[in-house]
Amino acid sequence: MAVVEPLRVFFIPLMSPGHMIPMVDMAKLFSRHGASATIVTTPGNEPLVRPSVAGSSVDLLLLPFPPSAAELLPGGRENLTFMPKSDHARFFDAFFALRPSLEALLRARRPDCIVTDTMYAWTADAAAALGIPRLVFHGHGTFPQCVHDSLHLRGTHKKKSEEESFLVEGIPDRVELRKSEVSSIFQWEAALDFWKEAEEKSFGVVVNSFYALEPEYAELYRRKPGRRAWCVGPVSLANCKGSTSIRSRGGNNNNPEVEHCLERLDSVGTAGSVVYVCFGSLNEFEPEQLDEVASGLEESGYGFVWVVRNSGWAAEEGYEERVKGRGVIIRGWAPQTLILSHPAVGGFVTHCGWNSTLEGVAAGVPMVTWPVEYEQFVNEKLICQVLGVGVGVERGEAGAVVRKEAVAKAVAEAMGGGREGERRREKAREYAAMAAAAVEEGGSSYMDTAGLIQELREFRAQAQSARPN
Ligand code: UDP
Repeated sequence: MAVVEPLRVFFIPLMSPGHMIPMVDMAKLFSRHGASATIVTTPGNEPLVRPSVAGSSVDLLLLPFPPSAAELLPGGRENLTFMPKSDHARFFDAFFALRPSLEALLRARRPDCIVTDTMYAWTADAAAALGIPRLVFHGHGTFPQCVHDSLHLRGTHKKKSEEESFLVEGIPDRVELRKSEVSSIFQWEAALDFWKEAEEKSFGVVVNSFYALEPEYAELYRRKPGRRAWCVGPVSLANCKGSTSIRSRGGNNNNPEVEHCLERLDSVGTAGSVVYVCFGSLNEFEPEQLDEVASGLEESGYGFVWVVRNSGWAAEEGYEERVKGRGVIIRGWAPQTLILSHPAVGGFVTHCGWNSTLEGVAAGVPMVTWPVEYEQFVNEKLICQVLGVGVGVERGEAGAVVRKEAVAKAVAEAMGGGREGERRREKAREYAAMAAAAVEEGGSSYMDTAGLIQELREFRAQAQSARPN
């Protein structure tokens, strides 16, 4: 019998942790399903990816920026997480300069399939010209994508004033948003149109979600004529508990504060008594806001692990002494899914990035929702309103500083909260069980991944048989 070559899939992520980490996880999933998976990224991102793929059969292919673009990212800081928001435009100038070398790479290597971030919209034409199926990765679940489809199609938000609420039309739930909560991505309509057109020319969409989390939205999303979508998540579960890859997800995590945090969690006697606080890989709060978070966590009385990205901020004198034995601050990067899966952790204060949302769901803990930008406000609606596993922090007007009382109150509600709190925890546990079942053999995400890989194999076989000898 002829040996069937493994399907060669190139994963080409946007260089930002919220896009790169799930694609690396997805590559691991594909490789477990027998595909030969390769991550294509730039040398400056190697330290973030290499530790995450160690011990797996996922390959790494490094594609340097052309010299003129590399100059825009001095010191090899080739990821959005390394730069302030004000420098993001410069990053994207460099990002677009990758196009010729990436096209040349595809011509030379001819993978059987590419999975590219939506922002590499031009890869749709490049792949089509070479007969390579392209899968799009948006990085969001189907709920936020259905909301965005509705806003893009109907423009409901455009007629509203900043703080005016409006109903999102054409979706199964009654979801209200304020215009100030609509993602700033809608300011770039031309880009949205371009990405949409590119998606229409592609093989389909891979979604980091699972069917039972948002069944009506998965259906609605797939109902759009011409769109095919496979829900393959939560991809974070590709990193088994106890494996080294869960520790090194997104970087090597050699920070001694991480070690201290893990020891501290191990020493906590009461399950579910610590709240984990992290606002993602890009967000930087002002010092005044961080002071309020610090005081709110202290006031809540709960144990906490808090990840602070701002290198320039320090808590007021005496703070760390006061919370010693109860609170741990990690400066920089933390192994989020490892911490979330620790039995001592019973709640998650999150900025509601899609990955964090899904990781909170997979960990089975209630969330305190504190969205800051992009589609995070929409994800908050899913967490609190649709799934019923979250408590929103009281935020006041857009951009206002959230006060310590509001932080303490929301944490207390999520971690305690009487019968209502117990009901939320119960639901969170149920969703976590569904998430685990989805990626197990025979589960919905497992079957979607297997089915997709099978289709791609058939596509390759047909293309090969149609080729003249
Ligand atoms: N993350 C992490 N450690 C950190 C901060 C973030 O592992 O200290 C990971 C987190 O687990 C998630 C990703 O980075 O997988 C962040 O993605 P998300 O969509 O939640 O938010 P973004 O950073 O894109 O706003």
